[in-house]
Amino acid sequence: MTSENIKFKRAIIIGGSLGGLLTARVLSNYFAQVTILERDSIAPAPEARKGQPQARHLHGLLATGLEVMTRFFPDLPQALKDNGAIMGDFADTMQWYTYGGYRQRFKMNVPATLMSRPLLEHLVRERVLALPNVALMDNCGVLGLVTAVAGDQVTGVQIESRASGQQEVLNANLVVDCTGRGSRTAHWLKELGYQPAPESEVRVDVGYATRVYRRNPADPRSQDWILYTPEAPRENRFGGLFPIEGDRWICSMGGWHGDHAPVDEAAFLEFARSLPASDIYNIISKAEPISDIMPHKFPHSLRRHYEKLRRFPAGYLVLGDAISSFNPTYGQGMTSASLQAAELDALLASRPSLDGLALAFFKRAARVIDIPWQLAVGEDFRFPQTTGPKPPGTDFINRYVAKVHQATLHDEVVGEAFLKVMNLLAPPPSLFHPRIVWRVLRGKRPSRSKTAVLQRAVGD
Ligand SMILES: Cc1cc2nc3c(=O)[nH]c(=O)nc-3n(C[C@H](O)[C@H](O)[C@H](O)COP(=O)(O)OP(=O)(O)OC[C@H]3O[C@@H](n4cnc5c(N)ncnc54)[C@H](O)[C@@H]3O)c2cc1C
Repeated sequence: MTSENIKFKRAIIIGGSLGGLLTARVLSNYFAQVTILERDSIAPAPEARKGQPQARHLHGLLATGLEVMTRFFPDLPQALKDNGAIMGDFADTMQWYTYGGYRQRFKMNVPATLMSRPLLEHLVRERVLALPNVALMDNCGVLGLVTAVAGDQVTGVQIESRASGQQEVLNANLVVDCTGRGSRTAHWLKELGYQPAPESEVRVDVGYATRVYRRNPADPRSQDWILYTPEAPRENRFGGLFPIEGDRWICSMGGWHGDHAPVDEAAFLEFARSLPASDIYNIISKAEPISDIMPHKFPHSLRRHYEKLRRFPAGYLVLGDAISSFNPTYGQGMTSASLQAAELDALLASRPSLDGLALAFFKRAARVIDIPWQLAVGEDFRFPQTTGPKPPGTDFINRYVAKVHQATLHDEVVGEAFLKVMNLLAPPPSLFHPRIVWRVLRGKRPSRSKTAVLQRAVGD
């Protein structure tokens, strides 16, 4: 924070998860006082909480997410390493089976960041709360918005202490809703006489189950991230086994359209055994479990189109999963939230006042969300059971991308192009560059790498 940038008095952020913390970091550049209101009690150490049940499940951080977070907190990668996160080369630590084979490994100079979601959030929170103008009020639920008499300007929020039950009003020049998928903004807008944002829902009926295991760090393959994704629609199960801090593995498995991973121990192992690659089963069937098996159901991807609204109350914004929550199997939510926070930063830097901020922000946020939404929803429409608004051209793109997936098994040039798009480092049309199309369509060829790694199943 530099005091010459401070233009406004007070901002309030509702929700102290990753979206709220990154927003606080941005607003600390422009507001004299930033207050984060979080309904849960926040522990002094990494911990999954009631308000974010997803934090118990495998969370991959895309390279773009790490890059944006590192711009906000330059020492974050080092802090992650110091706390036991595994940070290797994305494509050189990849053990990713799909379309009947392993994607070719190679050195890519793009980081894979492997840690538990609570650790990442804890380290981000430590850094945000070290800022002199940011404060956290936990155990503090927001009940509703407070507005000026005309209802066209949000002037604060009504809060309730979960400890004492006491209610009070907190005033602010800007309130940001970062309460995630369960956001009450649609309801609050209706109460104020505004139209809620139109919504898109793409039904995927995904069911996760997750268990944590002890990991032997001396095993030379214990730094690899292991993933199996289906050749849809012929297959519809996925499994991930990622090394995380504390010499642990986190294993999340699941399936689309009702083929959910079970929480019964024997059935969980059987689910792992059913996957076409044996890596995950080979490891978890021998490793010591150190958690229960935890389920999570994700019925549909949800996008609230705030960018389509013409009227929105002044002094109010929405950010993160509260705008859009994607099928989590693609690992995009934290990166989308960080890109939205970066857009908010750019917008505030260019504006002398908060006038018209919301509609300008929603347009920018929509451009950020368009790409991960298109990638996630496009893949989901490989399943005929998927319902919802289908982007034009999806079937054609999916036929081509199936060939891209096949090419990544033996061609690292195509592999690199694909992994860059997946990490949101390159736009999806880059997969249609003539150089890539030619390699994809010419079929199987030996890799350009002389040192291609001969892959074998981990744990065999
Ligand atoms: C199973 C699963 C796996 C996922 N895996 C990945 C992954 O691999 N990679 C990835 O990038 N993303 C993943 N995601 C998405 C990721 O978790 C979210 O995108 C990320 O948490 C950002 O969300 P957020 O901060 O906007 O909202 P949330 O994380 O949902 O946080 C909302 C916060 O608001 C608080 N809150 C709610 N209501 C109130 C209120 N009235 N008053 C005060 N506080 C309130 C809640 O307690 C909570 O802390 C996954 C999601 C799921 C469901």
